[in-house]
Amino acid sequence: MNTITREGVIYTRVSSLKQITEGNGLDSQYTACLNFAKNKNIDIINSFKDGAISGNTFERPGLHQMIDFIKKRKGETFIIFDDVSRFSRNIEDYYFFKAKIRRYGGELLSVKEDLESKNPINRLHEGIAVSTADYYRAMNTARVNSRMRERIRAGYWLFRPPVGMILRNKILYPDKANSLVIKKIYEDYALGRYITYESIKYSKEAKQLISPKNNRPYRVQSEFIKKLLTNKLYIGVIDYPKWDIENINATHDGFIARDLFFKVQERLQSKRRKKYGVVGIEHFPLKGDIECGSCSTKLLGNYSTGRDKKKYPYYRCDSSRDICDIKPKNIPRDIIHDEFIELLKKARINKDVLKLADKIMEDTFNKNSNHLSSIKNHNQIKIDELAKRKKAQLEKFIQTSNPSLIKALEKEIESIDRQIKALEQVQCSEDDVIRFKLQGKTLLSHPDKAWQQADSNMKKIIFNFIFEENLKVIDEEIGNTKYSLPYRVMGGKTSPSGGLVELGGIEPPTSCVPRKRSPS
Ligand SMILES: [Zn+2]
Repeated sequence: MNTITREGVIYTRVSSLKQITEGNGLDSQYTACLNFAKNKNIDIINSFKDGAISGNTFERPGLHQMIDFIKKRKGETFIIFDDVSRFSRNIEDYYFFKAKIRRYGGELLSVKEDLESKNPINRLHEGIAVSTADYYRAMNTARVNSRMRERIRAGYWLFRPPVGMILRNKILYPDKANSLVIKKIYEDYALGRYITYESIKYSKEAKQLISPKNNRPYRVQSEFIKKLLTNKLYIGVIDYPKWDIENINATHDGFIARDLFFKVQERLQSKRRKKYGVVGIEHFPLKGDIECGSCSTKLLGNYSTGRDKKKYPYYRCDSSRDICDIKPKNIPRDIIHDEFIELLKKARINKDVLKLADKIMEDTFNKNSNHLSSIKNHNQIKIDELAKRKKAQLEKFIQTSNPSLIKALEKEIESIDRQIKALEQVQCSEDDVIRFKLQGKTLLSHPDKAWQQADSNMKKIIFNFIFEENLKVIDEEIGNTKYSLPYRVMGGKTSPSGGLVELGGIEPPTSCVPRKRSPS
């Protein structure tokens, strides 16, 4: 009689509910393992199971619990399972986990295969058993794929619904909120209100796209916008290029009209042609603030080379000719700037009002800086919280060797970093406000001079302070000027006694206070 106690655990797994009903369930596996242990004189001290979780070995909580368990033990632990396919159906995973378990003093024992023997024939058997399990798994995937292919060809979308849609009874429907926002983005894009993905990214519409998973705004990246603007599911058509499936009429209706969709595709195409490079805002300070009077596209800034090899700056309507045939497409930058300065001269505040205006500037500044510091405080608290959480997760990260936990922690830490970065970006530069105040008087008495002396960032601030909307350019002229409210009130010849109360409540738009207009 063997007096040394041998201890072990039992691991069982089913990959589907069907297996349970077909008599290959957890209980029958467990009984087989228990009998096996008895014959080998092994005391069973614990058992672990994974139920109805298919696929990836890394996603099995039972397996990971078991590894944690043997890791904490001293000495040898036998791990008993019914056959290798219960343990892993993936060759790479199998040998990975086997090596890991051995490191912690574990020995794999299969009821149906001899795995631990050093005998070469047994090693071959082990390899064949693992390969066979792997083979059936792959075949199974292929069978499922071919069934799915047929379903897709029949017009059913089988994957995650896109943003703005939900699956109900296996049919896609537009959701209540996001689909409306997406429609608005399509319409605006078709009209040329956006030039770049960037400008959509920062639009107020993009911020209204809420993920149903966590009820928070989506993290909108350029790739996200691109998918949004090219997704044919929105017009009731299925494309699945991975399986060579294209232009299948779906069983669901879209919520974007086809002609709108194709208009957007056309614009995206012309965007890709990109005949004109993009030049920095320092050279074209009105970029983003002026638009084509005919098609409402924001004008781009560029240089052309003349016959004399000199570079000439101009603003340009870059819509293709079939969308906008305005002439000329290119307008010399300096013509626009001269006109703009004329406009600013008209925005000079007369002397009588200036005395009052000085007070108003101070009020608006104070209001603004209070506002800013409260944003700052609020964000700093959040950043501190996130930093704390990050530290805690990093500590866990250093201590664990569990691969699925490592993966999850890595993901979380990355996500925390992204959140911190986003919050830091929102942080406002107080400099802007201080400079705003310093320039305040000049800005009001001589806005044209203030603008000419300012850097590109300050130029934007001045623009937003004086004008409420983008300026439209037609026939090389700026038309439709709408001054902002402080100007409408202060600009008048008469003393604005009636408007003063209202004025106190108006904050000059700065680079960090949300603007009414979409940024460039
Ligand atoms: Zn145009």
